[in-house]
Amino acid sequence: MFALQFDIFEDEQRIYDEALAKIRDVEAGADFCFEEYIKLAENFGNILRQFRCSIRISDKTTVGLYEDNIDLSDKAHHDSLTGIFNRRYAEENMERVIKSLSRSNGELSVMMLDIDFFKKYNDTYGHIKGDICLKTVAETLNESLLRPDDFVVRYGGEEFIVVLPNTNRDGAQHMAEKMLMKLKGLKIPHKNSEVAEYLTASVGIVTCFVENTHDFEYFVKRADEALYISKNNGRNRYTCLS
Ligand code: GH3
Ligand code: MG
Ligand code: MG
Repeated sequence: MFALQFDIFEDEQRIYDEALAKIRDVEAGADFCFEEYIKLAENFGNILRQFRCSIRISDKTTVGLYEDNIDLSDKAHHDSLTGIFNRRYAEENMERVIKSLSRSNGELSVMMLDIDFFKKYNDTYGHIKGDICLKTVAETLNESLLRPDDFVVRYGGEEFIVVLPNTNRDGAQHMAEKMLMKLKGLKIPHKNSEVAEYLTASVGIVTCFVENTHDFEYFVKRADEALYISKNNGRNRYTCLS
């Protein structure tokens, strides 16, 4: 069994023992000494102050640890470049989304959006401009979301995944059109793109009623297949699969 190597309340115990002994002495007939009682009371006052101080330090440490934990969890779920959620957030959250929708027999749309000719963008304008461009695209996608359960993550490089729970094919198509229009509206020059003079993106969408055998990988794979079709059909467009 674990035993403390030293007693952190050794002094306090001694003061208490002395006080008790003095009271017993008086009870047994010894002279009552007023100064000694004042000294005992002062000693107890000091102990109380030390306890208050210890509790304040302990409270501060607990709050600090709690805040550090929140901060770490926040960092673990956000993409450092764009500030939006990252792939890990999607992986962790999708488990919950899929479970809930499979129970309610709900529909789920997952969208994969990939910037067109982004390598050429970097080659033309430089990596720093490329980073700024990724941040702008991330912000634009994030601002396009309507419902509290919708979320967008930077899945990797210049690819984003948008998760739209309880959204059917029409709803997902509407969101894809809106997002592509917004990106077009940014008018980010891309003179070496083969599809437009401004930055564009291609989208793949999968929509289906969720079953409990589904997982995030299934939706990513299907959305990626749809994206591949968009790329092959000329980019700057969306494709829906079920
Ligand atoms: P496609 O239209 O077929 O998607 O062509 P693409 O050039 O966009 O695709 P590809 O996969 O060939 O290139 C992706 C580029 O994205 C290459 C890489 O330099 C760039 N990229 C990935 N991550 C970052 C990043 O964090 N910052 C910057 N600036 N560029 C990135
Ligand atoms: Mg890509
Ligand atoms: Mg690309």
